[in-house]
Amino acid sequence: MENNPWERARAQMHAAASHLSLPPAFIERMEKPDHVIEVSMHVPMDDGRTEVFHGYRVQHNNLRGPYKGGLRYHPKVDMDEVKALAFWMTVKNAVIDVPFGGGKGGITVDPKKLSEGELERLTRAFARELAPYIGPEIDVPAPDVNTTPKIMSWIRDEYGKAVGKDTPAVVTGKPVGAGGSEGRTEATGLGGFYALMEIVRLSGRGHSGLKAAIQGFGNVGSFLAGYMKEAGFRVVALSDSKGGLYIPKGIDDLKAVAECKERSGTLAGCYCVGSVCDLSNMELLGGRDISPKEVLTLPVDIVAPSALENAITKENAAAIQAGIVLEMANGPTTLEADEILRKKGAMVIPDILANAGGVAVSYFEWYQNMHGETWKKQDVFAKLKEKIDAAARAVFAASEEYSVSLREAAYIVALKRLSDAAY
Ligand code: NAP
Repeated sequence: MENNPWERARAQMHAAASHLSLPPAFIERMEKPDHVIEVSMHVPMDDGRTEVFHGYRVQHNNLRGPYKGGLRYHPKVDMDEVKALAFWMTVKNAVIDVPFGGGKGGITVDPKKLSEGELERLTRAFARELAPYIGPEIDVPAPDVNTTPKIMSWIRDEYGKAVGKDTPAVVTGKPVGAGGSEGRTEATGLGGFYALMEIVRLSGRGHSGLKAAIQGFGNVGSFLAGYMKEAGFRVVALSDSKGGLYIPKGIDDLKAVAECKERSGTLAGCYCVGSVCDLSNMELLGGRDISPKEVLTLPVDIVAPSALENAITKENAAAIQAGIVLEMANGPTTLEADEILRKKGAMVIPDILANAGGVAVSYFEWYQNMHGETWKKQDVFAKLKEKIDAAARAVFAASEEYSVSLREAAYIVALKRLSDAAY
């Protein structure tokens, strides 16, 4: 139970629903995905063998619009995980108020072990299997862990062949210049930053000089770190899957650190002074190495888990010193850990608000494709800020009205909007 995301998603919904008088049939509908699609792909490998892969698409709910959510390629993908992620998409899309329902999919595979050709054949086979079930007004996939703009382009291409018409709006997260939107790459990190700023403002706190530690330095974590530093936060610790660094007075040159990680494959040892990044600068900067998990329990004001699910569990929740947890990953906090954080008085800005910037700009991409428009980056960012600020205000107001956590409040906002769409 502690780590089962589907059980957690259900428990979170029931906790919020207990504050509302919702029709039992609505709750029953939310508990069961509309459709569960399971497919097998027989893929020719480079060495002449044929390998069989298993893929999923869960279409959780389309009360507010077409199913929408990413495709994940990971060895741990299974039906319970995909069901929970699809459910969270339904809730997230209602919180951020885009006209989409929720869906999610994936393939049980370690894509790092495939050649580029194998990855393309697998993706195209998956797209052929999914083609009868997806479409711009039916279900619109997007990237998630280990899926890229190039993978989205292959799906668009294969879908176009299946239906006999190029259809850019069938997927989002495409490369800019090939139907993608300006600002999609930055969107999730930037959206998290906007959510943090608005919640900090609403709760009457200042932000300048607050210390932050970020777990995960991929797409989401790296942009979040950059925007926070620019706004005057002190980013003191970063980690990736292999290690991390902690510099209490603040990490000065995030660009140099990112380039160092790019070169060496890890953040570990990326102590940068000028253009030189290595361990020899550690003492000079007053820094030290940390493990991927230690980043969460340092003496900081904000921690932002921006890697995978189940980062904060009953084992490490009590050791978290930060007063604010900004959930950039999906489902980073288990139920037990959430309760421990609540008792400690930590404010958790929940994933379904904090990381909704990605799907907000996916909606903008879909909209541009459907209307033949191309928006400038600054317009995308302005519209993103408007969406996130409005969602943060609605969630904060519900947390005051019902005297509940921001997570429960976000569910309350979403469940009300979803039940309004149903009845
Ligand atoms: P990503 O680019 O693949 O980056 C993931 C980062 O997490 C990498 O730096 C990775 O380390 C690190 N990591 C993996 N396992 C770790 C561990 N055990 N401890 C510490 N760090 C670890 O993925 P992403 O797009 O940033 O997504 C991160 C999270 O945000 C996921 O939960 C995703 O579902 C969620 N999210 C993403 C988006 C989006 O638009 N991208 C939108 C909504 C939600 P290495 O660099 O060493 O591999």
